[in-house]
Amino acid sequence: VETWPTTRRREPLASGQSRRTRLRSALEEVDRLRELLDHGAAAVLVVGRDGEILDAVAAVDDELGWTPEAVIGHHLADRVHPDDTGRLLDAFAELATHPGERVHGVVVRHRTPTSRWRHVRLDLDDRRDAAVGAVVVTARDVTEERATTAELERAVERQAAVAELGRRALEGAGPSALAREAVRIVRRTLDVGGCELWRHLPSEGLLLLEAASGGSRADAGRVTVAGDDPVPPAVAVEERRAVVVDDLGADPRLAAPPHLESAGAVSMLAVSVTGRFASYGALSVHTDRRRIFTPQDTRFLQSIANALALALERRRAEDETRHLALHDPLTSLPNRTLLVDRLEGVLDRSPASRPDLAVLAVDLDHFKVVNDSLGHDTGDEALRAIARRLRDVVRPGDLVARLDGDEFALLCEHVGSIDRVEAIAARVLAELDRPIALHDRELHVTASVGIAVPNGRPTTAASLLRDVDTALYQAKDRGRNGWAVFDESHRRRALHRLEIEHDLRRALAADELVVHYQPVLEVATGDVVGVEALVRWEHPTRGLVSPGEFIPVAEQSGLIEQLGDVVLRQACAQARAWADDERLPELVLAVNLSARQLLRPDLAAEVGEVIAAAGLEPGRVCLEITESALLAEDASATGAVRALKALGVGIAVDDFGTGYSSLSHLTQLPVDVLKIDRSFIDGIDGDPHDRAMVRSIVGLAHDLGLVAVAEGVETGAQLATLAAIGCDHAQGFLIARPVPADDLELGHRPLAPG
Ligand code: C2E
Ligand code: MG
Ligand code: MG
Repeated sequence: VETWPTTRRREPLASGQSRRTRLRSALEEVDRLRELLDHGAAAVLVVGRDGEILDAVAAVDDELGWTPEAVIGHHLADRVHPDDTGRLLDAFAELATHPGERVHGVVVRHRTPTSRWRHVRLDLDDRRDAAVGAVVVTARDVTEERATTAELERAVERQAAVAELGRRALEGAGPSALAREAVRIVRRTLDVGGCELWRHLPSEGLLLLEAASGGSRADAGRVTVAGDDPVPPAVAVEERRAVVVDDLGADPRLAAPPHLESAGAVSMLAVSVTGRFASYGALSVHTDRRRIFTPQDTRFLQSIANALALALERRRAEDETRHLALHDPLTSLPNRTLLVDRLEGVLDRSPASRPDLAVLAVDLDHFKVVNDSLGHDTGDEALRAIARRLRDVVRPGDLVARLDGDEFALLCEHVGSIDRVEAIAARVLAELDRPIALHDRELHVTASVGIAVPNGRPTTAASLLRDVDTALYQAKDRGRNGWAVFDESHRRRALHRLEIEHDLRRALAADELVVHYQPVLEVATGDVVGVEALVRWEHPTRGLVSPGEFIPVAEQSGLIEQLGDVVLRQACAQARAWADDERLPELVLAVNLSARQLLRPDLAAEVGEVIAAAGLEPGRVCLEITESALLAEDASATGAVRALKALGVGIAVDDFGTGYSSLSHLTQLPVDVLKIDRSFIDGIDGDPHDRAMVRSIVGLAHDLGLVAVAEGVETGAQLATLAAIGCDHAQGFLIARPVPADDLELGHRPLAPG
């Protein structure tokens, strides 16, 4: 060996007999060493510092060619691979500069007598104390060990590659990112020319090259093969198995996909990508030099394919779940959650980059009737048709959501001025106005639309949706089949109403509602003939609150039923007390009923019960119902009034003259009293028209056999005029304001002069 440094020898070796003796003693020393040696050691050699093998001591290995005869006198490097002698040289150089040291673990390739290469590990111990300057070299064949290690390393690397793909899937990488990742990982790990992922499109009978690494990368998304082509990926999909081709040119049955054929693919391996529920396609690798793919290679590729299939399948399931969570199953429109999401997303943007937007709430008018009368299937069909129409009204980028039953919402961006938004509302109404053709009938629906826009002010999704709701109520209040744009005063009013409602609920529980009474006078005699019960709210902080403020709220919230009951009971109890007082004249108790109360089917029964419980004669009670409530188109009010009348109580039409009740309607109702609205009494002296009006109402009442009552008499002149006209009864501040029962004077009132 040319590079072997013979000049490095420092101590000349002894010669002849003495050399042998010294050698022997060195060998004894080595005995100790030998015991330490593993049985697997191939040889223990005594080597001079120049590298010449002086002796072979133990476990001499035939296979490696280390028999004493073969090695003694030879150089240690003689059978070492030329590329490895440098390492051996370095080891000896190390020992030369540091005598007495050891250098372990020098692995070199060693040629056996049969000319095969084996990996041999050499441990070198410099024996400085030995008489003869020598190095004890322990050699061990590590060929198998190394192979196993390399294989293990490869296996670990492949496992890591599969794990890496799994991690990317867990991190939420999308399907196409995962596909790209998979082919990249496979190409790197298997060290092949290219890796390709083929997506199976069963309906088209095709496999589409979805992702590729290596030369065919640019073909991804463009190249297809037929499902029955004799190419490895198609066969892998078709037969759901791994396909290994060592030499495509030599295989009579299989060929490379055309785009790889021209690129010179020689060997190929393909596996199917199959999940639990569906086959996604195939994963294949190819090389441009002949390669025998091992079972381990196949297993690895299959693991990647499985991981990919699992990830894609889970992804698909997640997408489905997400879709379900964010969409309405009936119409497939986005639901409220998605609308809020989207709205928040837009509102979160900086004012500069935020498009001007509008939210429209669309509520179908009386849709419940459709469901109730035609059945839910028809209702559903109609809703789907309506959903499609709404979708068509707006631009593709706008969002149409179904919030609830018959309520939809539109989120429109880049709307421009409010006029344009109102134009959208008009289009919505026009679109819904066309009859809807269902399979066995035509349906006509109308809707009300509320509109809210952020108007430059900072706002949240929640408050915008609240605003649009308020506007929607406004639109419905105005009579449906129309739209209303939210403005701040709506909200304040709505808020105020809500506060009152909340407070009123509490007040009912705390007994804060009391009844005041206003006497009713017989005009001709000046005798008090009755009292009207008028509710008051003794508010702990606001003092006495008048019914004008809370009765409408009570009606809207339904609290009127409870309120009406409280008033009726209190008033009846009070009337009982008066009836028991012999000094007092016989009085008729007038109690007001609201329109909403008339809708209760059990109203008459309950009223009858309260009157009976108080021990009152029904004829001593008169129930006042406003003209507008009696006018309600539906017949239910008429029925309720008849049922009440049947109890034996009187019925008065309150605020008469403000509505437009037809006389014929009036004659059909079992009415006893007409109460002429205050507005006519107000003008009775100055306005000839009002006086004529009052005169004719009184005349009408008398013609029908009814009693006429004038409300709101404030002056003596008014009372005198009423007397002249012949009005039966009067009520007003002139006579008495409504007061608590204890403050009431129920005696005779002389007529004021006039
Ligand atoms: P209403 O039934 O027409 O009652 C007459 C209203 O005119 C009362 O107002 C009374 O205080 C007022 N009034 C009486 N005389 C005069 C007068 O000379 N000048 C003026 N300017 N006003 C006079 P109030 O008590 O504020 O009640 C208002 C309305 O609230 C009532 O009109 C009635 O519709 C309703 N209401 C009152 N109490 C009840 C109740 O217990 N149940 C129901 N459902 N409604 C009630
Ligand atoms: Mg009244
Ligand atoms: Mg009135």
